[in-house]
Amino acid sequence: MVMIRYLKKKFTAAYNIVNGMMVSMRWWLTWNSVELYPGEKKRGPRKFTVQYPKERHWIPDIERGPMILLRDGEGKEKCNGCGICAMVCTGNCIDVERQKDDAGKFSLKKYDVDFARCVYCNLCVEYCPQKALRNTPTYEWGFYKRQEMLFNKDTMTQDEKDKGFVYPSVIKIPER
Ligand code: SF4
Ligand code: SF4
Repeated sequence: MVMIRYLKKKFTAAYNIVNGMMVSMRWWLTWNSVELYPGEKKRGPRKFTVQYPKERHWIPDIERGPMILLRDGEGKEKCNGCGICAMVCTGNCIDVERQKDDAGKFSLKKYDVDFARCVYCNLCVEYCPQKALRNTPTYEWGFYKRQEMLFNKDTMTQDEKDKGFVYPSVIKIPER
């Protein structure tokens, strides 16, 4: 009985090791042809190492990078200042104010985001009824001061058609 239990344990251990190795082998043999994200394969073979900053990794559309406010095709702000994004914001980092014109139409007056508090949960983007927010594939997102992480509607608004918009590199290398 002891012998059977011993052999069973050994067999299970060997099975788990082989199983794990098979997963690694399968990935190793097919890593260049598997499409991790829609459209990825079309952009060429996957490279894990790139010569940064000369080369940059392609970031998938589902990336939850810092978000932007959108202008529609006619150049108007899509956001009407309803404040839902501020209500659902996990990091409590959005400050919205709206204004009403003579016709009773609401528009955005103030939209401040403190990205130092943002946890990139994406709730603001998902809950926006106007679809006025979009994530960007920005990943060069380093700052020396917290104040530099405060953005407002002027620094965040982009045209809706600028699909691949990324925030310009904000990393400032201090002069030596
Ligand atoms: S991503 Fe999350 S934490 Fe960041 S601003 Fe949106 S709701 Fe707030
Ligand atoms: S971004 Fe969307 S949810 Fe936030 S205030 Fe504007 S319209 Fe409302």
